[in-house]
Amino acid sequence: MIRLDKYLADMGIGTRSEVKNIIRKKQVSVNGMPISKPEAKVDITKDTVCYQGKTVAYEPYVYYMLNKPGGCVSAVKDNLYPTVLSFIENPKGYNLFPVGRLDLDTEGLLLITNDGTLAHELLSPKKHVTKTYFAKVQGRVTREDVQRFSLGLDIKEEKPTLPATLVIEKSDDISEIRVSITEGKYHQVKRMFEAVGKQVLFLKRLSMGTLQLDETLTPGSYRALTTEELSALK
Ligand code: URA
Repeated sequence: MIRLDKYLADMGIGTRSEVKNIIRKKQVSVNGMPISKPEAKVDITKDTVCYQGKTVAYEPYVYYMLNKPGGCVSAVKDNLYPTVLSFIENPKGYNLFPVGRLDLDTEGLLLITNDGTLAHELLSPKKHVTKTYFAKVQGRVTREDVQRFSLGLDIKEEKPTLPATLVIEKSDDISEIRVSITEGKYHQVKRMFEAVGKQVLFLKRLSMGTLQLDETLTPGSYRALTTEELSALK
């Protein structure tokens, strides 16, 4: 059983306070009876909730992985750029949001959900969830860089970064690397490379915790997480 106001807010009818007002104005019915108490309890398996003459089905949480393309922002709203939600069908009804942020030009794995608890678990600085990125970097990435990443770097924050694992895949005029970090500071990977005098030219997230980017997803496409992916993540 859940509260009627939570039911409607979860389904994107409005914010918690907006739906309280809607309910108080008797615009919502449960099993055909107008209900005016936001705290009224609803059985999501049996009761039929209607708003403005339409049944509002209770859908549980949804979890999508998006292969974020460059040129869109990891936000719910933006005045300048398309948001990551613009790639998802009917995002409003579910109150979806992206779990964390990738830069405008960063591509790759982005979890999109309406599950605030899971988002909090994945983003909490105390949990040190590992994020792995592929990057193309200007200039030769060296073993000394690997060592410096492993010791932590000064990126002009209060503290140096935590140890990060840098793996060189190709060391050339433009190098290719994989880097794993357990924090989520603003522009962190780019600033770590700046700290060793190098510039990131391309950045793509490959994984977050146990969740790996499905490489069959072209940039801009998404799919629901499988039950295995979801249970491993929780
Ligand atoms: N580090 C960055 O610099 N940018 C991102 O988008 C993610 C990690």
